[in-house]
Amino acid sequence: MCGIVGYVGSRQAVPLLLEGLRRLEYRGYDSAGVAVVRDGLHLVRRVGPVANLAKAVAVEPPGGTGIGHTRWATHGVVAEPNAHPHLDSTSRIAVVHNAIIENHAAILALLEQEGIQFRSETDTEVLPHLIRKFYQGDPVEAVRAALLLVQGTYGIAVAFADHPDVLIAARNGSPLVLGKGEGETFLASDPQALAGHARQVMYLEDREIVLITAEAWDITRLDGVRITHALEELATELVWSGKGSYAHHMLKEIHEQPESLRRCLSGRVVLDQGGAKLGGLDLPPSEIANITRVGLLGCGTSFHASLVGAAAMENLARIPAFAEVASEFRHRNPVIDQGALFLAVSQSGETADTLGAIREVQLKGGRVMGVVNSVGSSIARTCGHGVYVHSGPEIAVASTKAFTSQVAALLVAGLMFGRTRILGLHEGQSFGRELLGVPELVERYLDAPGAIDAAAELVSGGKYVFFFGRGVSHAVAMEGALKLKEVAYVPCMSYPAAEMKHGPIALIDANTPVVAVVPDDTMRDKTLSNVQEVKARGARIIIVHTEGDVYAAALADVSIPVPRTHSSLISPLVTVLPLQLIAYRAGIMLDRDIDRPRNLAKSVTVE
Ligand code: GLU
Repeated sequence: MCGIVGYVGSRQAVPLLLEGLRRLEYRGYDSAGVAVVRDGLHLVRRVGPVANLAKAVAVEPPGGTGIGHTRWATHGVVAEPNAHPHLDSTSRIAVVHNAIIENHAAILALLEQEGIQFRSETDTEVLPHLIRKFYQGDPVEAVRAALLLVQGTYGIAVAFADHPDVLIAARNGSPLVLGKGEGETFLASDPQALAGHARQVMYLEDREIVLITAEAWDITRLDGVRITHALEELATELVWSGKGSYAHHMLKEIHEQPESLRRCLSGRVVLDQGGAKLGGLDLPPSEIANITRVGLLGCGTSFHASLVGAAAMENLARIPAFAEVASEFRHRNPVIDQGALFLAVSQSGETADTLGAIREVQLKGGRVMGVVNSVGSSIARTCGHGVYVHSGPEIAVASTKAFTSQVAALLVAGLMFGRTRILGLHEGQSFGRELLGVPELVERYLDAPGAIDAAAELVSGGKYVFFFGRGVSHAVAMEGALKLKEVAYVPCMSYPAAEMKHGPIALIDANTPVVAVVPDDTMRDKTLSNVQEVKARGARIIIVHTEGDVYAAALADVSIPVPRTHSSLISPLVTVLPLQLIAYRAGIMLDRDIDRPRNLAKSVTVE
């Protein structure tokens, strides 16, 4: 969840480290720090955004080797002594660490008995002390000996005052990538930080240690076996882009959806066959015909996209399908039948719980493929097969364009499986044609989004807010509620519309804001009855409905029409748009930190 960067070369390390940290800031950002080797170790750490750190390091001496970190606290409060890098007691070894050392308490007790005084509350601080304990002149062997005692997950980078021209890095369950420049080497926890500096990259695997110099690197496994990895080209879509003319990344990313959806759909819908082609899901029709079940696994927004994906698999392909929160699935000893296909859905491709679920499926002999945004991420590589959703880098913590691209990619998969199993040519063609038309609908909606501010005022003034819908619109309601929690910190709940009367309706009183997602599909009339039920009890209603639905519009205090989609499976791609905008505007009205909401991180690499 944190960001790690490292640099070995002849240029000044500090500006390069700061630039890398700024790009990774979205991943975790309660504090940041750098350590640079130049006649000893120079350490600077600050609480708050990277900008605070940048002010503090401006006067630091130049150096060509350094490490940096943005922290998302797991152990210990947000305070400067807990910020990374952490030093050993002689201040000659500096460590940055992502994730959690699970047996830190036992190691700490051992080191304290040996007289070591700890200066932070973090799990991480055991690492520099442990490395120091084993250090006899060889930095790689010291790190290896320390890591052999460690349980848990880590991506680490280590700088030694005694070895000004090298860095050591190691990973277990937390990503690290190396980039090759001209006579310089970059290290990062996310390839995004390498864009513009390195064309060729190398991903470190679990339980590997690497010795990094300006010219080369040398990888060994924890057990000492030397290995090599091929260099890979850095994906061209990883071009670093700022906010452009938008006030926030979130708003920019909402408005990028016509383009990101076009990218996701491009070349994948095959209209003349009424089907689809997803290069990464390279299953021959005979295998698709034999799939007995599809399980979609994800967390947060990716779980909501998975719910739509499951509906697509059942409705388009008549394959029994379910979506489940990955953290629950992985620990419940699930039944993995051999005919099943699992799809692991994740924006970052690093989500620890989703990775755990993948390993559970693989351990039980099942088939799992990734549906991810980040090219080269751990999930993409662990699955080996899968689909990139191609939404482009998403920086705002609250996901918007990645959600719509995940839904679109899963609808394409539904079409591909459906055409093999039950869909005729014309049915497939009309679904495919409608899907290809979605980017234009999204563009049209975003050009004239309707009464977003009126809706945002209503929800931001509420004690709590209800969201409801049915079928795929329930998944959209869940996603809308999540956005409002994340970006505006407004307490809200989401329910399948008919569930309201089974309990939650007790909470409705005069002026409770309710957001109903009611596209013109087979469930419209029933959902509008549920709207009447809460309206009768005084709720203030916001309805997202199909344009031209005058009855729904008249029922609402705030009516937000969206373009018509003929297939209800496609409707989430338009009904979610006003909910994204409402959350954004409510966040602005309540003066929230839109792109970096409190307590959250973009890529959740801890369990
Ligand atoms: N567990 C470490 C800490 O709390 C690392 C957290 C992170 O991944 O940023 O400092």
